Amino acid sequence: MSAPTRVDVKSLHLDELRGIAQPFYRAGQITDWLYKKRVNSFAEMTDLPQALRAKLANDFSFDKIDVVRVLGSTDTTRKFLFRLSDGNLIESVLIPASPALYGSPSDRRTICLSTQVGCAYGCKFCASGLDGWKRNLRPDEIVNQIMAVEEQSGERIDNIVFMGMGEPLANYDNLMRAIQIINAPWGISIGARHITISTSGLVPQIRKLAEQPLQIRLAVSLHGATDDVRGRIMPINRKYNLSALLEACRYFTSRKKQRITFEYILIAEVNDSDEQARDLANHAHSLDAKVNLIPYNNVEGLDWSPPSPDRQKRFLAVLRAPGVRATLRREKGDDIAAACGQLRLQTQKVEHASRLLAS
Ligand code: SAH
Ligand code: SF4
Repeated sequence: MSAPTRVDVKSLHLDELRGIAQPFYRAGQITDWLYKKRVNSFAEMTDLPQALRAKLANDFSFDKIDVVRVLGSTDTTRKFLFRLSDGNLIESVLIPASPALYGSPSDRRTICLSTQVGCAYGCKFCASGLDGWKRNLRPDEIVNQIMAVEEQSGERIDNIVFMGMGEPLANYDNLMRAIQIINAPWGISIGARHITISTSGLVPQIRKLAEQPLQIRLAVSLHGATDDVRGRIMPINRKYNLSALLEACRYFTSRKKQRITFEYILIAEVNDSDEQARDLANHAHSLDAKVNLIPYNNVEGLDWSPPSPDRQKRFLAVLRAPGVRATLRREKGDDIAAACGQLRLQTQKVEHASRLLAS
């Protein structure tokens, strides 16, 4: 029988640590070491009694994630590839100040985080799902991406988007636990309004998210304004169709008194017609949602392509005509394979090829 897996100390909340370490103030000392001083072992927590350090080391793991590759691009977007302790690869992207990004002020540094290894949802344009789903990330593995990127880059991150590999809402409990640690004053201390979850449209979880108290922002990956078009590129649309999804969005908006953002990748001759733009404008208008247009980023092995710049501008104009707030985002970091899951896929291919060569 294998030993039971231990919980990682960075997956615990302050109140849970209070139940583990007495007296009361010890828990605060531990979170200070973890998130303020950022040590890498229990041994470094020098103001804790030796016996407590030994007990913690015995009962909890203290994992870290290793940086495998860092790629920088001309516009200083940097991509980080990490190896988890079980060998799996995940990635995060550090995006420099960008005025149009999720309504945040322009001086913010944003990190795009992964929540799963691979993805089960198999959207036809996305690299993350090409290899299927492997596993959920633990809360500490989500939190560690931020700390590792801050350590590597020397920059402080103040905006978080869950738009890396995986479907965040399919890993709901670990995601929420990580967000609480990211948000807490004793943790990373980033305001909920600076945290955005992107989802491909998991209707029950969107409703659940609307019920929890934090003012986290929501971005919904629409990518098609009718069931026909959306269903062709996003298999999840068969489970939760557009009307069910838009109803859940409406519930979220009214419950949280918050505007959502629609993500819409523009793919040539798939979803870039004037009719789609008009339907999208109707959906956005009725929900008072913003729209973020993203030209499709080429993925090796997939045959799609982005529309011409003129077609992109035309789509934007049709969308804006009835007064919808929309931006056309140049895909930052295009040159470093920034769309989700691509760097991991490339690295896996290279590693696989070198294993073949070695064998
Ligand atoms: N699973 C979640 C979050 C991760 S994907 C979701 O789907 O929303 C984050 C964003 O990257 C999504 O909007 C997704 O559609 C987009 N994306 C995926 N592949 C892309 C590509 N090839 N080009 C541009 N954007 C892409
Ligand atoms: Fe998964 Fe999102 Fe990629 Fe779809 S777009 S396969 S949900 S990561």
